[in-house]
Amino acid sequence: MRSFQSYIDGAFTDGEARFESLDPATGAPWAEMPEAREGDVDRAVRAADRALWEGEWPRLTPSARGKLLYRLADLVAENAQVLAELETRDTGKIIRETSAQIAYVADYYRYYAGLADKIEGAVLPIDKPDMEVWTRREPVGVVAAIVPWNSQLFLAAVKLGPALAAGCTLVVKASEDGPAPLLEFARLVHEAGFPPGVVNILTGFGPACGSALTRHPLVAHVAFTGGPETARHIVRGSAENLASTSLELGGKSPFLVFADADLESAANAQVAAIFAATGQSCVAGSRLLVERAAKERMLALLSEKAERVAIGAPLDRATEVGPLCTRRQREHIQGLVDRSLQAGATLVTGGQVPEGAGWFYPPTILDCDGAASPSLAEEFFGPVLSVVSFDSEAEAIRLANDTAFGLAAGIFTTSLTRAHRVSRAIRSGVVWINTYRAVSPIAPFGGFKRSGHGREGGLAAALDYTRTKTVWLRT
Ligand code: NAD
Repeated sequence: MRSFQSYIDGAFTDGEARFESLDPATGAPWAEMPEAREGDVDRAVRAADRALWEGEWPRLTPSARGKLLYRLADLVAENAQVLAELETRDTGKIIRETSAQIAYVADYYRYYAGLADKIEGAVLPIDKPDMEVWTRREPVGVVAAIVPWNSQLFLAAVKLGPALAAGCTLVVKASEDGPAPLLEFARLVHEAGFPPGVVNILTGFGPACGSALTRHPLVAHVAFTGGPETARHIVRGSAENLASTSLELGGKSPFLVFADADLESAANAQVAAIFAATGQSCVAGSRLLVERAAKERMLALLSEKAERVAIGAPLDRATEVGPLCTRRQREHIQGLVDRSLQAGATLVTGGQVPEGAGWFYPPTILDCDGAASPSLAEEFFGPVLSVVSFDSEAEAIRLANDTAFGLAAGIFTTSLTRAHRVSRAIRSGVVWINTYRAVSPIAPFGGFKRSGHGREGGLAAALDYTRTKTVWLRT
């Protein structure tokens, strides 16, 4: 059985307790993980606080911080295969997807490496002739970065990159489900040469480890990706110290297809939007809103594609859909499909838990026309698409916005003016037109409404990890 360690204050450690990680493709234990509790969390936060004020890190120039980040990016690229295989093994995310994602994990570190020496203060034109006044952008402090199981390396990179560029120190909490890739990544942080305590990486369970981290009095900011219910716990916990938060939460993203769209290309994008990562993606395009005239054709294209998808072992390069990360996740999905069918939704394809080992669930499509289906409101975080038709642009916009969430949306149309009108009217943090799921380190990403607040990606994300100091000098 493989064995992993936490990384605290520049050293690798077994942790206060240990737990077994299960292989989602077989359900069998395959690795032993460190379980951090309050003691480890406290050691890590204190190490991060020391590293913020003492030693080498606060004395490094911004460009020297940038060089460390470039080195980290190179190490991620050089170790891409090992990291991708570990992520696949521990979370069930297929090897094609984990390999592709590692390439842009390295890109994010490179982007923020380049930004480290571009975070500037300003000289202020104050109306006092004997005063010189300027602002400095200083690191916000110790950052707690908490990530969910899907895309852990990526979701950690979008926090570590800008926070390190800004000069912060961090304690990263990997999810208890599938922490292997982030614990392995700690070796690369060490090899890159970051001073001890600047980056600490541990894992443990939410109520003990996550909660102790969020409530720690030395934590200045909590950067969280995960579910809305956990976010509420985190905001309550961080409120004790008045720490700031950035929250990247769930979604119920609409995928709008107008009858004038290229339906073949819309169907291909819809398949990737909902079935990639076995649907365990915050931006999953989980509600297909289709103009009535195009519904029959879209359903035919989609069910044909969904039934052809190669389901199988996640480490096999031919596999297109792998298992879900946990048994709990599959039970949640099956329960929500059952409730939706009881509420009047019709099964187009899928919906049956397959025989055999592992937490597999087939690509599933529910026709929800005329049904008050809970599948239209609740997040599956799984490979289930709910379909509703509309008769007018106004109705499409109303349906798209009829959700508590507001993370992403897709619009498929050949009308340029409609694309503009609808993208303006949709209440979500990202809108993709005739494409879906495109990301870049340069482009801000984040949610409206219950999908959270704060943005990851872009220059603004690095500025969000700074606080402004104003200095007055009498001349
Ligand atoms: P989760 O909220 O259950 O867990 C996320 C992390 O929070 C884990 O590390 C967990 O240990 C920790 N945690 C749990 N309870 C805690 C507590 N009381 N205090 C502090 N930390 C605690 O999320 P999940 O089920 O692992 O992931 C799925 C969710 O993440 C979905 O809702 C999905 O949409 C969302 N997500 C959002 C984005 C985005 O960028 N917007 C990206 C990926 C996933």
